[in-house]
Amino acid sequence: MMATLQDRPGPQDGTATESPAFHALPAPQVLQALESAEDGLTGAEAARRLSIHGPNALPAGKGRHPLMRFLAQFNNALIYFMLAGALAAGLLGHLVDAGVILTVVLVNAVVGYLQEGKAENALNAIRSMISPRAAVLRDGLRVSVAMEDLVPGDVVLLEAGDRIPADLRILRARSLTVDEAILTGESVTASKHPDPVEAGAALGDRKSMLFSGTLVATGQGAGIVTATGLATEIGRISALLRGVEELTTPLLRQINAFGRRFTWFAFAGAAALFAFAVGLRGFGWEDALMAVVALAVGLVPEGLPAVITITLAIGVQRMAGRNAVIRHLPAVETLGATSVICSDKTGTLTRNEMTVRRLITAEEAQLVEGAGYDPGPVRLFASGSHHEPSMALIRAGLLCNDARLHRKGAEWQVEGDPMEGALVTLALKAPLVPEDERAARPRLDLIPFDAAHRFMATLHRAADGGGLILIKGAPERILEMSDRQETSHGPAPLDNAFWTNRIAAAAAEGERVLGFAMKRTDPGRTAIDFPDVESGLVFLGLAGFIDPPRDEARAAIAECHSAGIAVKMITGDHAATAQAIARQLGLAPEPRVLTGQELDRLDDAAFQRAAVETEVFARTSPEHKLRIVRALQAEGRVVAMTGDGVNDAPALKQADVGVAMGIKGTEASKEAAQMVLMDDNFASIVNAVHEGRTIHDNIRKVVGWTLPTNGGEAMAVILAILFNFAMPMTPVQILWINLILAATLGLVLAFEPSEPGVMKRSPRRPDAGLLTPFLVWRIVFVSALFTAMVLGIFFWAQAQGRDLATARTMVVNLLVVAEIFYLFNVRYLHMTSFTLTGVKGTGPVLGAIAVVVLAQLAFTYLPVMHAIFGSRPLTLADGVLIIAVGALSFLLLELEKRLIRPLFGDE
Ligand code: ATP
Repeated sequence: MMATLQDRPGPQDGTATESPAFHALPAPQVLQALESAEDGLTGAEAARRLSIHGPNALPAGKGRHPLMRFLAQFNNALIYFMLAGALAAGLLGHLVDAGVILTVVLVNAVVGYLQEGKAENALNAIRSMISPRAAVLRDGLRVSVAMEDLVPGDVVLLEAGDRIPADLRILRARSLTVDEAILTGESVTASKHPDPVEAGAALGDRKSMLFSGTLVATGQGAGIVTATGLATEIGRISALLRGVEELTTPLLRQINAFGRRFTWFAFAGAAALFAFAVGLRGFGWEDALMAVVALAVGLVPEGLPAVITITLAIGVQRMAGRNAVIRHLPAVETLGATSVICSDKTGTLTRNEMTVRRLITAEEAQLVEGAGYDPGPVRLFASGSHHEPSMALIRAGLLCNDARLHRKGAEWQVEGDPMEGALVTLALKAPLVPEDERAARPRLDLIPFDAAHRFMATLHRAADGGGLILIKGAPERILEMSDRQETSHGPAPLDNAFWTNRIAAAAAEGERVLGFAMKRTDPGRTAIDFPDVESGLVFLGLAGFIDPPRDEARAAIAECHSAGIAVKMITGDHAATAQAIARQLGLAPEPRVLTGQELDRLDDAAFQRAAVETEVFARTSPEHKLRIVRALQAEGRVVAMTGDGVNDAPALKQADVGVAMGIKGTEASKEAAQMVLMDDNFASIVNAVHEGRTIHDNIRKVVGWTLPTNGGEAMAVILAILFNFAMPMTPVQILWINLILAATLGLVLAFEPSEPGVMKRSPRRPDAGLLTPFLVWRIVFVSALFTAMVLGIFFWAQAQGRDLATARTMVVNLLVVAEIFYLFNVRYLHMTSFTLTGVKGTGPVLGAIAVVVLAQLAFTYLPVMHAIFGSRPLTLADGVLIIAVGALSFLLLELEKRLIRPLFGDE
């Protein structure tokens, strides 16, 4: 349960707050108190205040104390088990064995600690890549600044989906509601307004304030910063909220649970074997105990969880390098199983670089030259010529508009919506002077654009003093609300058929079409609402925008198709526009399109079918996205879904992988998403899927490579007891092998690059466990092979008259060499390793092998190792034999891969 602020004593109790009760003051007094103005601070003043107040940030979460994190490494059944073994060995006087077991436990803990730390750091670094920004007024201009740079007195502009960046006193608000659950625990959104409230009001009742960390649910507004950083309400309770995300995923939990079960299984098996050895075979109980300690220790894959954690962390880092930032670790796994990607169109599949290409009024149709936001030398109309309806349209586009163009050197940049930016460029081409137009017809009120109603309207004071409403939006929507159309002789009756034809023609070329209209109102009007614009408009005409498809999206879609992943476009745009763009992108030769209206007419069963069969969903609203995700999931698909608006949050949460846009996405959508794209680019989703598949492959490789070593060791010990022959390896030797291998070769698999065919396979079944039939077969087969090799060389050596210690040294070396060869085999689960790249290995592979070889030389030849591990020096001939047997096992395993692998299909 989260504590709510209402529980805390408020300022009215006389407890600490130095700031005046801004919520109770009228807005002008607040401005005065904070020495600011309606149009914000100057850049210089903001910098000065920043140096006094410090950055608007909360200190990073401390997480667990390093010592606690280290101790936590010992808190697991397996380690207790090993410590018990050490104790047993110690009590029996086998001090060397006890020492080795303790060393292994310690080394494991250190390796686990370091790797976990590395993984946590990687995730934290990645998380800080998505640092939020806020729109503020500085030097009278709207600019976007990093949230950290806000200072008291800054005027912040807000819209639906924004995260409130600091504590704010509202200056203006329009249908502003805010989700304050994070502070008050209240799930209903609170509506906000600029009027002062009672000084003693509790936090939840301070309607004139906005609190840092809460989310704008609807509407627009502006507010002045009253407190930043730790001085904010959230800052004061931040200690309560600072949660460290657990470093875990379903897969890791599955493996940990498996490890725990396995430990008990090993324990029970060891106990049974102990009883058998003492009771039936007449072993001395000390020897039997040491034997079963060897068994248990050999059986347990102690290094596995740490290696898998690091595999995940490396994968997440690689994804971040390719512009996909993972917010929740489990998404890494789900990504690899994704079978459908549902993507927005604008900005994700297209570049979101809009240019007006076509203007259509009742009397004129013309193509506009130029591309991008630079108006260049293009002039639409010679001065003095009369094109009143066209000019009225262009003016409406300029004034019913929140975007601004900035010129940086030779480059023109847009602040705000790119489509609105394109309308400013159009005005400059007319040519109009934006500042003059805005001054001549000041804006009094607006209805902001919303994907649900698909238009935006503004109220202005016209040059003649009357009221003027300007509207732009989805053309069908605007036509519905209009009853006349503008001509050079004044308004005439609306010709619906004419406009419908024009819209269809422009959309069929892939243009995004926008309709414009206006309405005169009485001079006294200062506010507008929906009823004012829903009828009686005069239609001005259409503008067609081009927004070229991203080149890389085309290739990414083709890659999805070869990887068995369906791609669907879900857009608010017109059906014909969406279909044309889908065709250009190669979504399908003849993309099937359904509109939101058509979807609404389907029953659940038909909807489900349609969701699977349709490639393009047009004129949809955010609720459709949610229904589409659900329908696809009901059909067993694993769905990745993109979104950017505040209304997309439910669909993003419902999707298996919710994908938010880093650049144009709202904070609300990022919060709901599991992954954020730094470049808003569809291709980055596909890259992430590619990495997701690689990570899953690598984890399978780690498991498939590790377990047979344990299997081989354990089998050899069991057989020795069952058939009453000397142990082929002592407990400390088994520990040596596990330790040296897990810390080197096992780790290498975490860094493996993708196999060439990763994106040629179908997605894996989401319900398939990690241990697929092929992997289980592999583990059993390789364990058996290793057991045979171990026993073979052990008996052979003894038959040659070598002593037991030498025979054991050969066994240890053979197992390690066999693991090296097996590593090369496992690196390619899906194809032969007999390729030049396969045989060459990678840097990490060769480095790890070098370490292992050195360690084995030390093990075999250093006197101190002889003392600890009971090893003996081997001859060159022994070495050659061991390598030859290892190489033979490699050939056998490659043969097995070729013959048996296909029987298991494409798993
Ligand atoms: P996508 O879901 O692919 O990003 P989109 O951007 O076309 O699609 P919305 O933003 O929901 O989807 O827009 C839907 C429609 O609303 C657009 O096709 C356009 O007609 C209209 N529209 C979009 N932005 C504005 C705006 N700022 N002012 C007025 N109308 C707009």
